[in-house]
Amino acid sequence: MRFHTFLLKYGEIGIKGKNRYIFEDALVRQVRYALREAEGEFSVYKKQARIYIDCEGEYDYEETVGQLKKVFGLVGICPVVRFEDKGFDKLKKDVVAYMDEMYEDKQFTFKVESRRAKKTYPKNSMEISRDLGEAILESFPGIRVDVHHPDVTVNIEIRDEVYVYSRIIPGAGGMPVGTNGKAMLLLSGGIDSPVAGYMIAKRGVGIEAVYFHAPPYTSERAKQKVVDLAQKVARYSGPVKLHVVNFTDIQLYIYDKCPHDELTIIMRRYMMRIAEHFAKEDACLGLITGESIGQVASQTMQSLAATNDVCTMPVYRPLIGFDKQEIVDVAEKIDTYETSIQPFEDCCTIFVAKHPVTKPNTEVIRRSEERLAEKIDALVKTALDTVEVIEIR
Ligand code: ATP
Ligand code: MG
Repeated sequence: MRFHTFLLKYGEIGIKGKNRYIFEDALVRQVRYALREAEGEFSVYKKQARIYIDCEGEYDYEETVGQLKKVFGLVGICPVVRFEDKGFDKLKKDVVAYMDEMYEDKQFTFKVESRRAKKTYPKNSMEISRDLGEAILESFPGIRVDVHHPDVTVNIEIRDEVYVYSRIIPGAGGMPVGTNGKAMLLLSGGIDSPVAGYMIAKRGVGIEAVYFHAPPYTSERAKQKVVDLAQKVARYSGPVKLHVVNFTDIQLYIYDKCPHDELTIIMRRYMMRIAEHFAKEDACLGLITGESIGQVASQTMQSLAATNDVCTMPVYRPLIGFDKQEIVDVAEKIDTYETSIQPFEDCCTIFVAKHPVTKPNTEVIRRSEERLAEKIDALVKTALDTVEVIEIR
């Protein structure tokens, strides 16, 4: 079946008045972005509190739907067949032909729902629904009417052309990216942080990212893996500005000066400080991490408190109450899992102590950091100055 148009449905809760335009315009922008590389020519526009995509010429249906399913803010994607308005008898034939082609197995219940945007049409919407319903019933003996809980609702919209749709493909939900500001994701090569970025983007937040690498202890391929993950997150969130920070000298200095069982916590505190620097520079409103309570020693309540101690911005930890398997399930759904499990070393694992503290005391950690006084400011400054920025689209 050839669909000429997609009708996009979005949740309308909380988007009244001025917010509605912001929401719709962001949605149109994100839909255009999602389709920019898809084969075909698409015109995306809003009309009467709905968003439509007209597909001109040839296009790849599966690819188009696949892309639309990644757009946050859409709750339903309806492929529409458009018929020229050549009178009601012709429309009956067209709708029967539509049903015939759309549903191979004709054993289900249905109802017809009509909207008449063109008020000059000779029948009102009740009559349109009733008469088309009758035509369908007469043509297919296995199909029955159920107005309360139909398996299929056949929607008819009378405009300059007649729009017919009955399939609603579930959308990604959430809010269009760009309606809720921006945040800075601490993106490692692991399973968790890409999922965390996805979850915050789903609420309409644009994503920037920062990755700490430690050459030569971590390889170019480990960095490439993070770039690949940022690309996968970008398919949902839109463009991601990725900051790659050379963390080696800071790590070595901490290793040299501080108790080894505190290395991870102190390192994480410097990551947060540096991430916050770039976040402020780019007007981000918060930080995002992939932490989850108790997952590892650096994510006990005490460790999280010690890490959080250096942050002045809100830190969003959307996975905080998730079990590992629940995180893996999302990672698989958004196709980051296979990339995340590639076995490249990560900068934390190399400098990790055999027996890290599991209940760090923030005061003790602060005092340990005083041992870094001599050089740490200069090292952080160098790390900031030598950042590599990669624009991911
Ligand atoms: P992930 O699977 O996201 O790597 P993890 O279970 O390995 O998480 P940690 O290594 O303790 O957990 O890291 C906790 C969080 O700190 C990560 O989710 C990420 O947000 C951030 N993080 C850790 N290492 C890095 C890094 N090298 N660069 C950027 N962020 C990092
Ligand atoms: Mg990790």
